[in-house]
Amino acid sequence: PSTFEYSFDTPSYKGKVALNTGLFIGGKFVDPVEGGTHDVINPTTGKLTTKISVATKPDIDTAVKAAQKAFNESWGLKVPGAQRGKLLMKLADLLEEHRSELAAIEALDNGKTWSWAYNVDVPGAFSCIRYYAGWADKNSGQVIETAETKFAYTRHEPIGVVGQIIPWNFPLLMLAWKLGPALATGNAIVLKPSEFTPLSALRVAELLNEAGFPPGVVNIVNGYGHTAGAAIAEHMDIDKVAFTGSTIVGRKIMEYAAKSNLKNVTLELGGKSPNIILDDADLDQAVAWAAHGVFWNHGQTCCAGTRIFVHEKIYDEFLERFTKKAQALKLGDPFAKETNQGPQVSKTQFDRIMGYIESGKQDGATVHLGGSPHGSEGYFISPTIFTNTKPNMKIVREEIFGPVGVVIKFSTEEEVIEQANDTHYGLAAAVFSKHIDRALKIAHKLNAGTCWVNCANTLDTQIPFGGYKQSGIGRELGEYALTNYTNVKAVHINLGMEI
Ligand code: NAD
Repeated sequence: PSTFEYSFDTPSYKGKVALNTGLFIGGKFVDPVEGGTHDVINPTTGKLTTKISVATKPDIDTAVKAAQKAFNESWGLKVPGAQRGKLLMKLADLLEEHRSELAAIEALDNGKTWSWAYNVDVPGAFSCIRYYAGWADKNSGQVIETAETKFAYTRHEPIGVVGQIIPWNFPLLMLAWKLGPALATGNAIVLKPSEFTPLSALRVAELLNEAGFPPGVVNIVNGYGHTAGAAIAEHMDIDKVAFTGSTIVGRKIMEYAAKSNLKNVTLELGGKSPNIILDDADLDQAVAWAAHGVFWNHGQTCCAGTRIFVHEKIYDEFLERFTKKAQALKLGDPFAKETNQGPQVSKTQFDRIMGYIESGKQDGATVHLGGSPHGSEGYFISPTIFTNTKPNMKIVREEIFGPVGVVIKFSTEEEVIEQANDTHYGLAAAVFSKHIDRALKIAHKLNAGTCWVNCANTLDTQIPFGGYKQSGIGRELGEYALTNYTNVKAVHINLGMEI
């Protein structure tokens, strides 16, 4: 397989990266059977970065066979949890050792700023792997009392070969969220990164070998969704699929599972999260968190607080300060120290977001700020704020996945709770108030898997994350994620029951 070499000479990072661009199957890089490649585009310039191999069904079959062999011979129940934990700990250390380089790969491939990748994505990834390393020898079953004549216990067994399909917005972090709990519980993996951001996973493939994971325990196959992704979700020998991405594709994943072997499915999907600012909120803090909520990662965050509801008493002042905050964001080269916002990930996303902005204008909303592309090359969009919206407008109802927020005035708590919950999504929500009782009463009434009080868009490895309604099924992170990757076996032993 080919390699890709790149020299970074930037204010944030100087160094060389050399990657193998093949498919990582059975611990080796191999060429795809049908031999296709995909152009990886640098979103900052719109120019070609490199070409990578793409898998199709025959490659997925080979990857599944490699995973089965590893599971049966050198992983799964063959390897004690403590040993799995040791390997995960080593992987976490390697990710930490290569922190600057991995941040550079993410910035090049995704367009996110090097400093956010360095401060959030990469540490988020290694702390996630380290956290699950700790769980590897602690996920025991229970002894269950029934009658004196019976002894019963449960075992938490690995599922076997699991498929994992991830998106482009946090390539390395989503990979870590998937690998950590699946490996801690002893599963073998076939993982497909997004075709838009395939590079950091290729570097992780090398680090998995360096950490000493047996060949085939993790197979990383780049490729397109409708071919490689579908082949994973439809595979008869994959017993579970974990997917993060859009709600539309999540629906297809369930269909593939239903039509093949009824594999177990967990989904982390989209959102249109409400952010509620009450009249007694600390306004400086609320403004800062609201801006972080909607504009962070260029708005490409599944839990972005894109519907900002502000009490009428403070609406004008909030809007004025919020606008200043958005205007202060510096767009530009992701490697420049002063940049807060890089390009959107791809031309497709750029066009999609501009389409939504156009629809907002057509529907009669006011473009309070932005609403246009930025610069002459790459996929940059100015931070955009809409006001004077109506509840049925597309920009209020649909996930835009770009730096676009709507600011909506409300007068009563009842009214804002109803509006906040008026969505098919239920991933996250935020409430700002200096009175904790008020904030919590509202938080408990919001239909969302994550409710932030006086903060937004902040996640921790230890705290579960996932959606209500059409934002997903199951929870990632924390102890909860372990249940996604284990079968519970109940063992009944007769201590004197007679028949
Ligand atoms: P996407 O659904 O287009 O793609 C996600 C992944 O699915 C990619 O790897 C893609 O190749 C693959 N895929 C596409 N079609 C497929 C098919 N038919 N069969 C199998 N796989 C297929 O999403 P995206 O554009 O990469 O990511 C953005 C979306 O992800 C947003 O909706 C966002 O909200 C969501 N997201 C959710 C979370 C979460 O935890 N809830 C986290 C990050 C992103």
